[in-house]
Formats: sequence, structure tokens, C-alpha cells
Amino acid sequence: MKVYKIAYLGEDKDVILALERELKGANFKLVAAPGDYNGIRKVAGLNPDLILWDLDNDPEPESFSLERFRRADMKGQPVICVARRGSVKSAVRCISSGATDIIFKPIQEPFIPRAAVALNIGELQKRLNWSSSVIDDTNNQIKRILANLKDPAYIVSPEFHILYMNRAAEEIFGEGLRGGACYTVFYDRSEPCEVCLKSKGPARWRAVLKNGKTYRFVSALVTNSSGEPEKIAIGIDITPDQEVKKIHKTFISNVSHDLRTPISTIDQYASILLDGLTGELNEEQKKCVEVIRRSNFRLFNLVENLIDANRILSGDFKLRMEITSVREVMDLVLDKLKAQAEDKGLKFEVEVPDELPRIYVDKARIAQAIANITGNAIKFTDEGRVQVRAGYMPRDEGRIIVSVEDTGIGIPREDLGKVFDLFYRVEGDRVYVEEGAGLGLSISREIIRAHGGTLWAESVEGVGSAFHMTLPVYG
Ligand code: ADP
Repeated sequence: MKVYKIAYLGEDKDVILALERELKGANFKLVAAPGDYNGIRKVAGLNPDLILWDLDNDPEPESFSLERFRRADMKGQPVICVARRGSVKSAVRCISSGATDIIFKPIQEPFIPRAAVALNIGELQKRLNWSSSVIDDTNNQIKRILANLKDPAYIVSPEFHILYMNRAAEEIFGEGLRGGACYTVFYDRSEPCEVCLKSKGPARWRAVLKNGKTYRFVSALVTNSSGEPEKIAIGIDITPDQEVKKIHKTFISNVSHDLRTPISTIDQYASILLDGLTGELNEEQKKCVEVIRRSNFRLFNLVENLIDANRILSGDFKLRMEITSVREVMDLVLDKLKAQAEDKGLKFEVEVPDELPRIYVDKARIAQAIANITGNAIKFTDEGRVQVRAGYMPRDEGRIIVSVEDTGIGIPREDLGKVFDLFYRVEGDRVYVEEGAGLGLSISREIIRAHGGTLWAESVEGVGSAFHMTLPVYG
């Protein structure tokens, strides 16, 4: 059976006697030494399990500190202070300075139960110290691995402060940025990103970084030695190869231009048929030709959109900037959208305050983006409402924010980051019954970016979606 070594540092004979009397025959060995430098050294050499410190050793009752034991290499042992009866102040001071317990002299109460509790606490402390050192070792190991990666990696605190960036990340964002808010340093935002606010565990997202490259990030939470969850994120470069991009662009451009001719021929011949120039059609035949014409018109729209998307996404378009207002931009598209919404029995609400600052934008392009987003909101909402609102954010240089909210089918979490990708449509029957090629959002995002703004989405599946765009204020 283990014999516990208890060290009494002090010179009070009555204390020594009382302890010896109680500990005799039990599994405890008492060692007594004066509470000076040599006494502490001697006791440290015996590696005691519990230290009793007589407060009479301290010239000032306030000067008690665990530091002297730690310096003498007694790292985790529990310390019980022995105080004169009545000296409550110094007793409180001992506890607040890290002592495990306090006993009063002359010792009258049984000591063994107090020693047992203190030894238990000591055991727990030892295990805690061991766990912390394992966590520290693991974290250092992780940092060593991250440091050697060619991909950017960083660690952020629960308050979104950058705690660590590897070399690859410093090459993209710059050095000496530790302590900064990650959303500002990495993405120039004034608030944390949605994905970080919402995900409480591992997450994945895609981001275009300051070097113009696209990265797929994966993150995981690790606990630091203080028990706080830190987020480790690693980004993998998924920027499409320039050659592949060029082939993609040329292919889309050639195919869509080649399709224009047969589409317009189909339209002309359908008109000839409908006008009766090749002989009068009966009602049944007319209906068939009208179906051909309508489908051809959808094809025409798709091809025009493809040509437009190709131009916009390759940055090959000019903005016709002018000073205007959100109201003027919205007037270009809202009537048509309102009619579409009301045809579906949806409430259509528009809130644009009169006193909004003027904006400097390409009216037609911004109207196109608002029409795409609001058109989607109507398309994917079967009941409830679609709301278009504009407001002013005076922070920074001042921005207008336009939001389109709906009570529709919503977007699954895992698709939210992808709906802005070219040709991306959420899998599912509800989406496929609706017309669309997955172009609208990617075109809209490029248009907003070309104006120096941002476009992002929030959504809860089955509840609804909200798309927000920011536009710079004139001047
Ligand atoms: P399209 O609407 O032509 O399919 P978009 O690029 O405009 O293409 O949208 C991409 C996809 O994003 C849609 O197919 C749909 O799955 C999803 N989506 C966009 N807006 C909404 C919305 N308001 N509600 C639900 N899903 C939406």
C-alpha cells in the first residue's frame, strides 16, 4: 500500500506533535523542516505528496505564494496552510493564492480526512496538468504540420481573432496580422461570415482570396489547453486552370453563337406557318406551332443568357455608369415582377425609403441582378410573400443594401455556398420543374462585384431565403 509523504514546513512543536500523534500507524509519513530556503530544498528532494505550510514562516501574512514551491521544483503538490486560530484574513488570502485548504493551530479537529481530500485534489490536478501538456503537445504538433503545408492554413479563437497563420497564408494576406479579426483580414468584412456564425463544428466553404485564386476551405474545432475551442482552417487551391477556362469560354461562345441562326430560322418559319402564308392552319395545328414558337423563345433566352454570362464572367463587359437612385433602378423591373408574383397568388412587398442616398451604377445591369434574384424568389415560393427592401448602412464609406426575402422552399445548407457557381442548381424535383440553367446568380454576383459590392445569401430549407446585395453610394 502506498505510503503518503506529508511535509510540514514550519517550526511549531505543538503542530509537529499533533500531526505525529494522528498520523502514527496510518499510511502517512511525516517530514518536518523549517520554512526557509534550505528547509524547502530538503523537502523538495523527498518529493512529498502534500505540503503543510505554517504561515508563521512568512514575515508578512500577505506574502504567501505558491511560487516558492514551484521554484523548488514542487510542481503539482497540494498545499495546506497552517494558520493561527482567528487569523481569518490570512487564511482567505492563502486560498485565493492557490492553497488547497487551511487548518488552524493548535490542531484540534481530525487532520486525516482533510489530508485525504487535499491528496485527491492533488491527484486531479496532476491529471489535469498531464492532459494540458498532452493538448499543448498535440497543438504544437498540428502547428508544425500546418507550417510545412503549401496551402494556406490558420487558427482562430472563438472570438474570431487570428491566433496563427502559416507561411502560405502570410504570403497571401501579409505578415504580422495575428490578433486581427479573421473576417476583416481575410475577406474585408466588418462582421463574421455566416458559415462561422452558424457552424458549431467542422465546416466547408469556398472563397476567392486576395491573390485572386479560389480555395475550398475545410475547418475543424480543436480544444486548447484552457479548454477553449479554436478553429483550424486549411484552404486548397481549386482555381480552374487558365487553359481549361479559355477552352470553356470559347466552347460556350461558339456553341451559343451557332445556335442563334437555327433559332431565328425556326422562329421565322413558325411565323410564316402561323400567318397562313403556306396555307391556312386548323386550330389544332396552330396550337402545335405556338408550342414550337414558345419553346423556341425559351431556347432563345437561354442562348442569350449564355452569351451574356460568358461575357460577364470573363470580365468582358463594360458598365455604363450613371448617377441614379435605387427607386429608378427598381422601376425598370418591379412592375413585371409584381405581376408574376401576384399571378402565383403571392404577396409582393416593396420597401424603398425616399431619402436613400444616390448611387453610381449601371442601371440596366443592377436591374438585371435584382430581376434575377427576385425572379428566383417568386419561382421558388409557392405561398406567402416576396419582399424587396432597400436600406442605407452608414458604416465605412456608406453602402446601400438591397434585400430580397421569400417564404419559399429555401436552400439546403450544403448548397448555400454553391448556388452562385455557374450552372449550379439544387438537386430535386421542385427545382427541376422550374425553368432555369443555373446562370442567374453567377451573373448577378459578377455584376455586383464589378460595382465593388457583394452579394450573399441566407436560407433555411423549407422556411425561405434572403439574398442581400450591397451597392456603393455615390461620392
Ligand atoms: P436558375 O434559377 O436559373 O436555376 P440561378 O443561378 O438563378 O439559376 O439559381 C441557382 C439555383 O439556386 C437555383 O436553381 C435554385 O436551386 C437555387 N435558388 C436560387 N434562388 C433561390 C430561392 N430564392 N429559393 C430557393 N432556391 C433558390
